[in-house]
Amino acid sequence: MTATGLSPDQIKLQARALELARGPVAARAAEVDRTEQYPWDNVELLKDARLIGMTIPIRYGGQGKNWLDAVLVIEALSSACAVTGRIAVETNMGAISAVMAYGSEEQKKMAADMVLAGDKPAICITEPDAGSDANGMTTRADKRGNRYVVNGRKHWITGGGVSRLHLVFAKVYDEKGEFEGIGGFLAIRDQAQGLKITKREPTMGLRGIPEAVIDFEEMELPPSALVMPPRGLKKGFADLMTAYNSQRVGAATVALGIAQGAYGLALDWSEKRHQFGRPINEFQGLQWKLADMSIKLSAAQALVYKAAESGRDGFPDMLLAAQAKIFTSENAIQVVNDALQFFGARGYSRELPLERMARDVRMFTIGGGTAEVLRNVVAGALLKKKLPQTRDGWTKD
Ligand SMILES: Cc1cc2nc3c(=O)[nH]c(=O)nc-3n(C[C@H](O)[C@H](O)[C@H](O)COP(=O)(O)OP(=O)(O)OC[C@H]3O[C@@H](n4cnc5c(N)ncnc54)[C@H](O)[C@@H]3O)c2cc1C
Repeated sequence: MTATGLSPDQIKLQARALELARGPVAARAAEVDRTEQYPWDNVELLKDARLIGMTIPIRYGGQGKNWLDAVLVIEALSSACAVTGRIAVETNMGAISAVMAYGSEEQKKMAADMVLAGDKPAICITEPDAGSDANGMTTRADKRGNRYVVNGRKHWITGGGVSRLHLVFAKVYDEKGEFEGIGGFLAIRDQAQGLKITKREPTMGLRGIPEAVIDFEEMELPPSALVMPPRGLKKGFADLMTAYNSQRVGAATVALGIAQGAYGLALDWSEKRHQFGRPINEFQGLQWKLADMSIKLSAAQALVYKAAESGRDGFPDMLLAAQAKIFTSENAIQVVNDALQFFGARGYSRELPLERMARDVRMFTIGGGTAEVLRNVVAGALLKKKLPQTRDGWTKD
């Protein structure tokens, strides 16, 4: 799908990503799902086409592209393979963008080099007892002499076991045991002792990227591993989470791309498939369904593009990113479900991509902030109030 208002460079970029999506990426999508193997070959394709690390500033080896550029690429790739779309999200947005915004020179160089070499950084926030309530995390980093010692468990970490660079969030305590705030530490899997991948989650969809439990056992890191936003540790988590608004837009884009892919298949099939002596698209019941699907997709695309463009001078706006993610994820699930229905029994077969798309798209109202919690974000922004969710009205430290 294309939109008006794109620059000639963006149209070219989109065409490059679509060519890849419709060619080698589409050809491998079913196999990636079936084998549950991380598609390293697709990473190489993305690298060769310069579609990863695009948002990294030129001085660190990237191309200094904006969020909308990244969105165009992610949208195109996800229409064929959501796993590859997610790789494009996490090599252009999220953890890498947090480091590029708030990291030290040394951290920026290291992270940029790793991503441009094909690493998909992992972001480690969620814990078994701290999901939506991320502030309730218990992973801790204790300052002991000239190092921090990290202990705790994270789960549902995308890329666990394939990612090298990890941005690990932990409650930071000084040498006297005083709480200082939530900090983000950079840890490299094959260098940090005590970073252990202990389980791979058996997921419903998006099976080509592992979701892992990661245990941190006495993981020692130097103070230089701490990514320190300008307002310091007390506001560090809030600042680092602004970077997450880019990832939210990216996640919404993957859902959008999957739904566009499914819609395209349904549209084609509705002309090819005949029943009662005529193409099924001659039945008004299906014509109206196609109309509704296209309206949902156009509205979702407009929200996603608007949210992406709001980040022209920094990160996407929190309200717009949340609105885009809620609307797109919920409507994409419906569009894919409707598209599957067009195929009748065939849609339920694993020989067609519809059932995979239905499994893949289901994730996006959950990961990266659930649709319910993001509604709290939207309401808080509209009402210009903090809306604490804990019983005593305060967040735990
Ligand atoms: C495929 C996948 C990939 C993920 N990748 C990562 C990753 O890379 N890194 C990472 O750190 N995490 C990751 N996550 C975790 C994800 O961010 C969490 O699943 C999400 O934040 C929700 O937390 P939870 O699963 O513990 O649900 P819970 O917080 O237990 O929520 C359960 C239900 O209660 C609702 N709920 C909770 N609080 C409220 C409230 N205040 N108001 C209204 N409703 C509420 C939720 O919306 C949900 O429906 C991933 C998850 C998935 C599924």
